[in-house]
Amino acid sequence: MEKSKDLSGLYCVKPFVQLDITLDNRAACCCEAWLPGAYNGCIEYMTLEEMWNSEKMQLVRQSVIDGTYRYCSKTKCPYLISEAFPLYTKAELQKAVDAEDGGIELESSLKLVKDLGPWIRRMLEGKTIMDIFPAVYNLAYDETCNLRCPSCRPGNIVYAQGKEYERRLAAHKKLFGDIEKGGFENVRGFYVTGAGDPFASSIYRSLLYNFDGSRYPFLKFFIMTNGIMLTPEAWEKMKKIHSNIDYIFITMDAATSETYKKTRVNGDFDRLLENIEFLGVKRKENELKRLILAFIVQKKNYREMTEAIAIAKKINADQLAFSSLDDWQSWSIEEYNENAVCRSEHKEYPQLMRVLKSPVFEDPVVSLGNITPHRAKALSM
Ligand code: SF4
Ligand code: SF4
Repeated sequence: MEKSKDLSGLYCVKPFVQLDITLDNRAACCCEAWLPGAYNGCIEYMTLEEMWNSEKMQLVRQSVIDGTYRYCSKTKCPYLISEAFPLYTKAELQKAVDAEDGGIELESSLKLVKDLGPWIRRMLEGKTIMDIFPAVYNLAYDETCNLRCPSCRPGNIVYAQGKEYERRLAAHKKLFGDIEKGGFENVRGFYVTGAGDPFASSIYRSLLYNFDGSRYPFLKFFIMTNGIMLTPEAWEKMKKIHSNIDYIFITMDAATSETYKKTRVNGDFDRLLENIEFLGVKRKENELKRLILAFIVQKKNYREMTEAIAIAKKINADQLAFSSLDDWQSWSIEEYNENAVCRSEHKEYPQLMRVLKSPVFEDPVVSLGNITPHRAKALSM
């Protein structure tokens, strides 16, 4: 069901707590697909403080405070579409900030971040300039990946040495140098990674294997990966951050080997299944807090959505998050339109409607995200 268009009095906390450092070392207030023109600076020539309080960042914060959300896409941002991604009222946030332990727990299908009190308090006071560093960082400046999904990139992208690698490494070092000045004890989380794969990138891999999380119990790692290189050995190498890992999020995009070969080029479906089964056991043993699988719905895989739900349940995942295909400009507009089966003009949209009628989508493991309006439509037919 679509949320009311009147968003006044409802708060998205993201621009007040999180900074994304993304492709070309640019800073962004939010995901570019959800907030067009989200870029607000560059780590190469700006300090963390300058990016965090740039003019664009302040305008986005103001649009949340005044409830217009004028920069956010009302059709793509799941926080503005799906009930599973909550926005909060002032009263809810105030209550959490005033909680006796001084902590706040925000829960959505994607994240659980504790102790955001200092950031939320400033938001409730109407501040658009933040005098504390971000609580959460989305590390997305190294696109290196072992796969080559057609929806994401036309060819292999691996930076392991040379000028482009050095540029990314320099950005990483500069960012972490700036963060360190504010103290890692004031950081609440790192998303690794919003671009590429954290185990294929030597920059992120080194962070995950070497960071001593035991010194920072409030700092969480939100790991987003294709899962192929997240083997039992890789899990073991991350032992210094095991208790900091809030979730592991693995995009599968298929429920059969044949489809996986098309949606996740260079991947190995059997290896993926082995790795997610291993992580499912870690989840059962409570060594891993949450295991989330993801499925980007497109023409090549929508017929396997229900099978993917069965896999998620079988391996003990906490959630299977569906979302529609975004245009990452990897394809021509014609190719994108051909693959984006969630467009109501798509010739296979009626078949997608039939798939979405299934009652298995009501299983608690399923998060429909921005597929929610499509299922509502399917059920109303
Ligand atoms: S409402 Fe959505 S697009 Fe806007 S800032 Fe929040 S998450 Fe980003
Ligand atoms: S696994 Fe992710 S980052 Fe790698 S090519 Fe596929 S979509 Fe892109």
